[in-house]
Order: sequence, then C-alpha cells, then structure tokens
Amino acid sequence: MKKILIFTVLGALILTGLEAQTGGKTLYVAVKSAPVKASADIFAETKGNLAQGQAVTVVSENAKWTQVRVVSPALAGWISTTSLTSRRPTSSGNRVNTGELALAGKGLSFSSEMEQAYKSDQKLSYDAIDRMEAQNVDGRELLKFITDGKLNRGDKPGSAYSLQQPVNDMYDEITMEEAYYMGRTVGARVLSAYKIYTNAALTAYLNNICQTIVINSPRPLLFNGYHVLILDTPEINALATPGGHIFISRGLVEAATSEDMLAAVIAHEISHIQLEHGLESVKLFRLTENAADARRSGIALQGKQDDPKILFMQTIAESVDTLTHTGYSREQEFEADAKAADLLVLAGYQPSGLLDLLKILPRSGSGGWYSTHPAPSARISAVEGIVPATWVRQNNNAAVRAARFRTK
Ligand SMILES: [Zn+2]
Repeated sequence: MKKILIFTVLGALILTGLEAQTGGKTLYVAVKSAPVKASADIFAETKGNLAQGQAVTVVSENAKWTQVRVVSPALAGWISTTSLTSRRPTSSGNRVNTGELALAGKGLSFSSEMEQAYKSDQKLSYDAIDRMEAQNVDGRELLKFITDGKLNRGDKPGSAYSLQQPVNDMYDEITMEEAYYMGRTVGARVLSAYKIYTNAALTAYLNNICQTIVINSPRPLLFNGYHVLILDTPEINALATPGGHIFISRGLVEAATSEDMLAAVIAHEISHIQLEHGLESVKLFRLTENAADARRSGIALQGKQDDPKILFMQTIAESVDTLTHTGYSREQEFEADAKAADLLVLAGYQPSGLLDLLKILPRSGSGGWYSTHPAPSARISAVEGIVPATWVRQNNNAAVRAARFRTK
C-alpha cells in the first residue's frame, strides 16, 4: 500500500514536471497561415487560420501536433508542430521581420522587400510563380485520393517524428520565410527559362501525390506549402527550390510507368527541400566572417559585398546555376535518395518506385540536370543497400492506383 502511494506521488510529480515544461509556454506561428484543427488530424475541421507572428499558448504537444489556445482571435485547437517556432517576432506588428534576424552585419537577406527590389531591378515576372502557389489541393479530394490509393493519411507517427523541438528552431541561420522568398525568386527565374506544360488534371494528380507524401513526412508544412508544376520540355529532369516549388519535366512524367514512380520523383525533390540542400551555400556564407573565408569554403559569391541587393542577386544566380546546371554533390544526391525511400514508405508508396525511376534515367549527361547526378547504377545499388529487400519485393500496388495512373 505504501509503495503504491509512493509511486502515485512520484507519478504526480513527474507529470507536474512535464506539464510545467510544455504547458503554458508561448510559441509563435512561423508560416504564412496556419490552420487550427478541431483535433490532431490534418483532415479534421479547420476552426480558423492564424497569421505569421501570432502568439499561441501551448496546452499540450506531441512531435506532430500542438494543442494551443489563442485569446485573440478566440480559438482553441490543434496546429501542426512544424508551423510553430519559439522565436518571438522581432519587429512590431504581426510580421516577423526576417531581414532583421538576418545575418547581422552580413547584409544577405531574403524577404518580400528584397523580392520587390529584385523584381523591379531585373524586370522579372512573378505571375507564373504566384499562380503555381495558388494551386490548392482540396482536403476532401485528397482524402479520397489517399483512401482509393490505399495510401497513408498522415496519422501514423513513424520513426521520422522524433523531433525534440519545433522544427523551425532548427533553422538557425535561415528561417522558413527566408527559404520561401529565396525559392520564389529562384522559381521565377526557372519559369522565365521554361514554358509551363498546361494540363490541369495531370498537374492536380501530381499535387495530390505530393500532398500525400508531405502530410506523412516530418515537415508537412513549409512557409507557404509545397507545389508541383510541369515544365514543357522533353528532357528528363526535376528540380525544387528551397521554398517548396517542385518542377518536373514533361519528359520525365511521360517516361514514368506507375504512380509509385511519379511519387519517387516527387519524394526525391521533397527530400532536397527538407534536407535544406539548396540552403547550404547560403548557410556557409553566413557562418564565414568574410568573403575570402567564403570562397575558401567553395562559395561562388564574389567579393565582400555590403549591398544586400547585390548579395541577393549573386545568391539567386548561384542557386539557379546549381539547380539547372552544376547539380548537387554526389553525397547530397545519395542522401536525397535515401530519404525519398523513407518518405515513400511513410506515405504508403512502394519504395521500389525509386528503383524503377533510377532505371529510366539517362545514363550519361546530355546537358540536363540529371547529367550531374551520380551514375544511376551507383544510385540503384545505394538504394538497394538501404531499402530492406522485403520493401522492394512486396507489391501492395492497389488496383485503383494502377487504374488512375496517368502521364497525359
Ligand atoms: Zn537530386
């Protein structure tokens, strides 16, 4: 009896301790707009949306969902943990001024103000990228897509959800907002060089696949979400900006022979985004004291620049060049393949779709983006090395997934 009492008291103490750590603390919305859900479920009713910078009081939390209370507007419900940060907004008003957070003294910043300056300076149109971001996947349609396809609906906490802190706090050097503004300009540049393949049904199909993968991933939300667009080129290529813009060539879509293969293309690009490969050179730059150090670290940014606009232009130019010509490092490609296999499994897709994809990639460079990737044969053996044979062999391809598959 005494023992039970001691354990009860101990248990109460432990619970109180935990409560003190998580309950009552204040977090802030780190994305453009965060939906507050009636329960910890992406498909639950949306009770309202909170704007960036809004303070919320934490009631309880798990790795994936945080239960919050808000006084004004009066709201209570669940928010995706990925969309919250412990960083208090630095400027007055609702907006987090990342320009202020940025690189104290280094001048390199990504913000809407910088976008405006770049836009007028370069006479670059953002219309196409705005339309790309306006593509929204309907919740009910997505749920039907997932159910029909025997895929996962983001409610299984997999091994990927071992986050110990809000994911945005890991963006030590670059916030999600900055990654978004950098990505928008990189995307606008890409869309000034390529025509868009206009096919609403096919584009919606790819976006449903993309949403299925991200809601099951450790980072379901970015500053303004993930969006897929098809580029009208026969090349076999795909690329993504740090801001969540995923471009797939018509040639690659047409070469695919299953939905799981298309899912593999998208999962690979999502992996580059979530692993922040496109931000690495910027991070290095910010960590180095001066341009000479930056160059020694292999960064192409020229000279010590104090003009934020010039730094912004150089960073965008370098990023576009990496994505469309030079490519990521071999290590980054292997890393993206490994994570893609993981994301496919979490979403309920066949990781063997990734092997099927690697088998159709051109073997040698013809100037395309994939020409700089490691040889497909090396990638195939690497993926076979990480994906358990049982995953590769099993065939859970739902009939509906095969029947609805489309490349046109
Ligand atoms: Zn890649």
